[in-house]
Amino acid sequence: MSTGTPTVTPAAVEVHGVHKWYGALRVLDGVDLTVRPGEVTVILGPSGSGKSTLLRVINHLEKPEIGYVSVNGELIGVRRQGERLKELSERAILTQRSRIGFVFQNFNLFPHLTVLDNVAAAPVATGRLAKPEALALARELLDRVGLADRTGAYPRQLSGGQQQRVAIARALALRPGVILFDEPTSALDPELVGEVLAVIKDLATSGTTLVIVTHEVGFAREVADRVVFIDGGRIVEQGPPSEVLDRPRHERTRDFLSKVL
Ligand code: ADP
Ligand code: MG
Repeated sequence: MSTGTPTVTPAAVEVHGVHKWYGALRVLDGVDLTVRPGEVTVILGPSGSGKSTLLRVINHLEKPEIGYVSVNGELIGVRRQGERLKELSERAILTQRSRIGFVFQNFNLFPHLTVLDNVAAAPVATGRLAKPEALALARELLDRVGLADRTGAYPRQLSGGQQQRVAIARALALRPGVILFDEPTSALDPELVGEVLAVIKDLATSGTTLVIVTHEVGFAREVADRVVFIDGGRIVEQGPPSEVLDRPRHERTRDFLSKVL
């Protein structure tokens, strides 16, 4: 007779009852979200609804006032100890953050480093890889995002679409358990959006766990396992794209989709 508890693969990301406010402004109002390993979650919602704040809480760039977040089964931010909430050490936070990739709207590349060094920097700085191995990995990842011929360029010499593809390669270099994207194509000229979405789609179909904030509803329909609609700091509804996008149950979701489609 088995007496042990069954082994359950931990969620890639688990957000528990998170409340976040700035002064009197309540930005996240009781958010619960579970992302399974390999799952692609797309977050939709109007401007100011708390989408970026939610990603920043997951990455511990912001601390929730109430609630907690775990990534790959490890608690981030406030840790629950019985009924008490305990702060994690800075070191623990940094270790956990290095397991999460973050791709920003404005790329945030290091301007003074070449494309190759932008991608190789983090594995060296965190002591994960020696320089030669990091450079080899960076070349491999830049090849994957279609930039094998631009390794020696500086960010300013690249288009926005190319810079964002470098940022994606850089996020991949730490072999993260999950990659968070905050409106990765919003700053791009329309003709450059497709090349970035194609790279993200390649990751999605190869089993990488992704959480993507975007207004690209067509893209969400193509790649998302789950669509989450957030408004006023609350998850209004979530489910497969065929439900949330094609048969939304809530008026606020219908209203939002009618504006972005
Ligand atoms: P979204 O990404 O959905 O547009 P955000 O998470 O960026 O929304 O912001 C949600 C709300 O929180 C907005 O009203 C925004 O002005 C406010 N906000 C975000 N960051 C801060 C901050 N650091 N200080 C004060 N208010 C903030
Ligand atoms: Mg935002």
